[in-house]
Amino acid sequence: NKNVYFFGGGKADGNGSQKNLLGGKGANLAEMGLIGIPVPAGFTITTEVCTYYYDNGKKYPKTLKAEIEENIAKVEEVMGKKFGDLENPLLLSVRSGARESMPGMMDTILNLGINDEVVEALAKKTGNAKFAWDSYRRFLQMYGSVVMEVEAEEGEHHDPYEVILDKAKAKAKVKDDSGLSAEELQWVVAEFKALIKERSGKNFPEDPRDQLTGAVNAVFNSWNNDRAIVYRQKYGIPAAWGTAVNVQAMVFGNTGTTSGTGVAFTRDPATGENVFYGEYLIDAQGEDVVAGVRTPKPIAQMAKDLPKSHKELLKIRKVLEKHFRDVQDVEFTIEEGKLWMLQTRNGKRTGFAAVNIALDMVKERLIKKEEAILRIPADDLSHLLAPIFDAKAEKAAKKVGSGLPAGPGAACGKIYFSAEESVKAAAKGESVILVRQATSPEDLRGMIAADGILTTEGGASSHAALVARQMGKVCVCGAHNMSIDYSKKSLTGNGVTLKEGDFLSLNGFVGSVYAGEIKSSPSQVIQGLIENKPAAKRSDTYKKFMELMQWTDKLRKLGIRTNSDTPEQVEQAIKFGAEGIGLTRAEHMFFEGNRIDAVREMILADDDEGRAKALKKIKVFMKKDFKGIFKSLEGRPATIRLLDPPLHEFIGTMDTAQKKDLSKKIGMSAAAITRRIHALHEENPMLGHRGCRLGISYPAVTAMQVEAILEAAADVQKAGTKVLPEIMVPLVSYARELELQKQVIDETAAEVRKKLGLKKSELKYTVGTMIEIPRAAITAAEVAKHAEFFSFGTNDLTQTGLGLSRDDSSSFLPAYQDAEVLNNNPFASLDQEGVGQLVEMGAKGGRTTKPKLKLGICGEHGGDPESVKFFHRAGLNYVSCSPFRIPVARLAAAQAAL
Ligand code: ADP
Ligand code: MG
Ligand code: MG
Repeated sequence: NKNVYFFGGGKADGNGSQKNLLGGKGANLAEMGLIGIPVPAGFTITTEVCTYYYDNGKKYPKTLKAEIEENIAKVEEVMGKKFGDLENPLLLSVRSGARESMPGMMDTILNLGINDEVVEALAKKTGNAKFAWDSYRRFLQMYGSVVMEVEAEEGEHHDPYEVILDKAKAKAKVKDDSGLSAEELQWVVAEFKALIKERSGKNFPEDPRDQLTGAVNAVFNSWNNDRAIVYRQKYGIPAAWGTAVNVQAMVFGNTGTTSGTGVAFTRDPATGENVFYGEYLIDAQGEDVVAGVRTPKPIAQMAKDLPKSHKELLKIRKVLEKHFRDVQDVEFTIEEGKLWMLQTRNGKRTGFAAVNIALDMVKERLIKKEEAILRIPADDLSHLLAPIFDAKAEKAAKKVGSGLPAGPGAACGKIYFSAEESVKAAAKGESVILVRQATSPEDLRGMIAADGILTTEGGASSHAALVARQMGKVCVCGAHNMSIDYSKKSLTGNGVTLKEGDFLSLNGFVGSVYAGEIKSSPSQVIQGLIENKPAAKRSDTYKKFMELMQWTDKLRKLGIRTNSDTPEQVEQAIKFGAEGIGLTRAEHMFFEGNRIDAVREMILADDDEGRAKALKKIKVFMKKDFKGIFKSLEGRPATIRLLDPPLHEFIGTMDTAQKKDLSKKIGMSAAAITRRIHALHEENPMLGHRGCRLGISYPAVTAMQVEAILEAAADVQKAGTKVLPEIMVPLVSYARELELQKQVIDETAAEVRKKLGLKKSELKYTVGTMIEIPRAAITAAEVAKHAEFFSFGTNDLTQTGLGLSRDDSSSFLPAYQDAEVLNNNPFASLDQEGVGQLVEMGAKGGRTTKPKLKLGICGEHGGDPESVKFFHRAGLNYVSCSPFRIPVARLAAAQAAL
């Protein structure tokens, strides 16, 4: 069993396809080497070693040590230097690298293998003492904090290493680290050592091999640091994947003015525009570019500073895109005019960029339509649907600054200056703009909580920009014309000072910052969908979006319906691409105005007569609403669920005044109402007298609804619009329940036809049921005898299948996610192994009885991409979701079919 994979000198043990084993970074370093791109030699310790390490009480496989030695020798040979040598020393970088990139979450150590003797050798060999001592101080800084855990302590506001560096810079009267001389850096090194000794009680290890062991341990340990855990949760990365460790020969960007380091994207990751996009620093190393200590220069300027390397980089840009057939996010270093590539990976991008790039690459014949579709994360389409600022309101707003447009979109919220405060404010339901000089991985929770992110320092590849892009957050970064005073909790720009809690607005498309709140308006795509603008006036984004949607419609097998309760929602949903209604909830119509009184009257009635009176009122509302909905559908099918009022939602929350008011309206005394409410009180209303249970006890309730539906259908048909009602019985557990309800429905339908003088073929409907109780899924073959369709109600099926309350679980679900019992909220993304089996069982059972039984799903999961893919595999006919999720569902359904 091989634990270590070598790469370098145009050869590699592994390749780009081995991301699971070598991690993304390791696999691509090998791949780049194989296609002739200059990569410093190195080796990758596999993710399997990480898993072994955690499974075996932090011990390593027996052969690992020898394998590492063997590979060090190979690196030495290719690079012509020796690790720990006092003539021509080889220094190493030790880098983490998981299967999926987790930017900045785990640790990297550079310049390893240096000590008091090696530093002299390095100075002598290169004739550059300043560079040697700069590398040494960098090593101590990284090793000290990462491995020896000497970092800022609680209550200490500044990084202790930076404090020492600042002292040195002040003494030397220079602004940048790169301005320090060899002697000054020597002083810094002595101070760093003293700091480490004092705080850890230990000397840092002088022996390069001990350094390496410590660094490898630290990288494996960093897989389980807090930041990494938070990140994994957010992106659903399993702890079991582990990280690889890459050990690589150092190349040096900090040897002077012919050296440098940078990062770049082969296309603009915010907009998707086909331009080389990135930045670099001269005489710098490692994370200097992203850390924001110095302001990097835009990549185009490299043509002047380092023309040869710039040219070569442009060539590599093409080679990489062609080879990996996707946008690449690269890291590079130039040592004395020689370009080295240190990393490449598929670039993270916003939803806007994802759509643009995918469609452009099809045009450029780099990829096929199918690939383009697979590449766009379906959820990210929501970026294109999110609101933007109203143009007039934005013009009138007070502009207080501007920066780089790092995350497109519009965001308004209250200013908070720390991650902690942001999390607190968001928990209270406030919209938050997180304002920082620069963000670091420690700010991740705050960034998740915020609606928008503003930084005053750093460039387009800063941490803030990277993370915001990936999360789809609105972000303006590097607003240098603004300043933050953390101690006063204030932000100043353009003569205006804003305080914590004040409103701020960010336009992440152009990088503008405004004081106050700006009114928003629908996104370009939604404007395009809703307004019938002439083709020439439609935005480019809209056109690309529509093209993409057309492709998806050709590929997908799943139908897409909508969960909508009003004619307006239905109209909107159709514009988004709905092919019918998958769920209209009869009781939702009653939450508005004083319609709820009629439902309350029905629930509270203590005899048939009282109930009949209330039902008559309800029927009037229902018939009117269904007519509107049928008209909006223009002949498309509609699944209508019969009333399913959990009692507490209707009568549980009434106060004395409301009871008095109702008493007047329905002619029942307030005391009688209170008595009835007591009598009807349920401990578990979600498991109580609701759904078909209501219709079984009071068939008149079902009959009234069927009358309303069919009379509305008859009216609309008469006016020339086809109507296809599918009457759905909720909360069935026993086949007999459905059988009884179907009898009521058929009998009522017969009466309606007779009354209206219509033949059977002239007023059609179907009867089906919602599968939302495990028993119904398990006995689906029986239930199907009385059903013409099933619709899986996955909200309740999750609630009942997991015994997990929809209303109460939010208090402990976060703890479950922290403990990694769950990777996702099961009400948002289907629990495929558990509840999914119930869906599969229900589908299979139903089709045993009726091979052509129509199957759909109408829970929240209908708009969740992973769940949509599952439903495709389970053989369902359609998914149904809320109007705004329809584009996401269309794309996910097409992806499922590929
Ligand atoms: P991350 O995964 O956080 O990006 P990396 O492992 O890519 O961490 O390392 C961060 C930076 O360190 C790189 O961008 C690069 O500038 C520098 N670095 C890593 N390895 C080397 C090396 N072998 N030579 C020079 N610089 C390196
Ligand atoms: Mg990197
Ligand atoms: Mg339900």
